Order: sequence, then structure tokens, then C-alpha cells
Amino acid sequence: MSRLEININKIKHNARTLKKEFAKKGITIAAVIKGVAGSPEIANAILECGINTIAVSRVQDIKKMKEFGVKAEFLLTRLSMHSEVADVVKYADISLNSEISTIKLLSEHSLKQNKRHKVVLMLELGDLREGILPEDIDTIIEQAIPLKGIELYGIGVNLVCFGGIEPSEKNMTELSQIVDHIQEKYHVKIKMVSGGNSANYKWLSQTDNTGNINNLRIGEAILLGREPMHKNRIPDLYIDAFTLICEVIESKLKPSLPYGNKCQNTFGDKPEFTNIGAINRVIVGIGEQDVDTKAIKPRVKADIIGASSDHLILHAKGINIEVGSEIQFDIKYPALLRLSTSPYVKKVFI
Ligand SMILES: *Cc1c(COP(=O)(O)O)cnc(C)c1O
Repeated sequence: MSRLEININKIKHNARTLKKEFAKKGITIAAVIKGVAGSPEIANAILECGINTIAVSRVQDIKKMKEFGVKAEFLLTRLSMHSEVADVVKYADISLNSEISTIKLLSEHSLKQNKRHKVVLMLELGDLREGILPEDIDTIIEQAIPLKGIELYGIGVNLVCFGGIEPSEKNMTELSQIVDHIQEKYHVKIKMVSGGNSANYKWLSQTDNTGNINNLRIGEAILLGREPMHKNRIPDLYIDAFTLICEVIESKLKPSLPYGNKCQNTFGDKPEFTNIGAINRVIVGIGEQDVDTKAIKPRVKADIIGASSDHLILHAKGINIEVGSEIQFDIKYPALLRLSTSPYVKKVFI
């Protein structure tokens, strides 16, 4: 069975290093572990590093962690569905929001459950995924303040993930100014001002003035030691906390060019190949069902030629790879996502 080896100490090192560095600038971290499907073991490891907030995108993952006994403040990163608000209130302490209809439902269900749910309003500052347009924020706040079941806990923004828009002095200052405006106009204290995700690393390392921003929601940087914008390594962090290990199921000298009449493949593509004569073709037992095969890289001298649902085909270069042997791979974020949720991939903590 293919396995994902997870080096807990490397993840802890990354979490500790970032926590210390961000604390110098008055920034707390919500550790986003949606990339590992809310693994309770990883949540506990991060909590041991003094980070108190664990964030995931699916409410089911919070339920799973609680059942495992993880004790944390839980933040839900994805906007809640109307159909799940009861569970959101039950399991999450904080959620990110942009729709007043959803916030009203959260309030209703909170009251029913004798709770006060913490709401972070997401602002749209250009990436065009979730968020309230700045000109609409007042209207939403005026409707949210009277709701008894919720606390207007924070203001947040998310960049890079969808539209590829960078966190900058300009949009971060705008966030701070909007928070000033809200606090003055409505006489409220916004406790959490959450400026973004791992992509804010560069902004944070280059700024001395973080304004009102006091929190970042950090996933990829803790898990994989990289910032998502340019996939650059973050200094002093491990980028290899995860290793994918798969078994070789065929290894043969075969042509480099498929032969016969050409048509489209399973995925609707018509792949092009260059004829470079016979090559060492190696098949390992993993495929698109389990992993984004474009987001993995063998640690041996071999190139990935392509993949189907269950087979990954490599071109081994100058090395002999035997059937039954194992190949290790480095993984990137899109690969981690799918590997974490695949029941066909065993998770092994080392
Ligand atoms: C995924 C996500 C994050 C974490 O992003 P990373 O790039 O992994 O740090 C933070 N906030 C929101 C709203 C997200 O959806």
C-alpha cells in the first residue's frame, strides 16, 4: 500500500519557528491543517508548540478532531453552508463569513445551543473569492451587531488563493483602515484582524508596521515550509516533512512513443510524446485517484512521464529500478490535499 510518511518533529519545528517570528510583530497564528484533512495527530503536535487555534475548511474535520480529544480553539475557514450552520455552531468556535443570511442563521442556532459564536467578517480586497465589498461592510455590520447569538469577533481578508493577488502594503493598509473605521463608527473592539494566509509571509517579513493586523491563518508554511505565491522556501523551515512512498509494479525497457492508431486518453487529453528510442519505463502503484501527479517529484533519478487513475509512469534515468522496490517522492500542496483524503494511502507518523 502506498504510504505518506509524516515527520511530526519537522512540522513542530516549522510551527515553533513561525510562531516565534510572527510574535515579534504582534501576530498570532491560526494553524490551518485542511491540507492534512484535519489530522488530529498533527493538530495536537501544533498545539504543543503554543499555537492555540486550529483551522480547517470542513466542519466534519472539527468533529473528528474533537472526537479524538483535540482541545483547541477551532476556526472554520470556508464560509458555512446554510444546511450546516447547526454543526458549525456546535463544533467551531469561530467561522469566516461574508453573507448576512448565514450570519443570522448562525446566531439563531447559537441561541438554541446556548452559545455565542464568534464571527469573522471577510473583506473583499481584490482576489475575488469570498468577501464583502468594502462599500457594503457598514450595512452588514449594522445588521450583525444586534444579533444576540454571535459576537462580531474579527475582520479578515484572503488573497492569492484564487485570483493570485498579492498581499501588499496597499491592501493590508486598507484592511487596517477599514478596521479603524468600524471601531470608531460602531464603538466596537475588533479582537481578531486576520490579514491572510501563508502568502502574507513576504509582506510580514518586509513590514515594520502591521497596523491593526494581529493574526494570520497559516497552512502551507507550517506543513510544507513554503509560501504559496512563488513557492519559495521559507528560511529555516523544513520542506520535507512529508514523504510519499510507492511500490514499483512494472519495470521494463520499452519504446518512448506509443504505437497504433491515436485517440484521446481516459482524461480526454491527446498526449504528445517525443521519440527518444527505448527507455526504462517504471510503473508505480499510485494514480490520479490518490494524488495530483503533477505535484510530486521522485527523489531518485527519474522523470514522471504521466499517469492514469491508478498508475504512475516514470522514465528511470541511468538507474535500475526493480519490481517490488519502493520509490520516495517529494510532494507539493495539491498532492498533499488528495493524499490526505485518499483511503488508499496509509498515513505513517515518524
Ligand atoms: C486555505 C486557507 C488558508 C490557509 O492558506 P495557506 O496558504 O495554506 O496558508 C487561510 N485562510 C483561508 C480562508 C483559507 O481558505
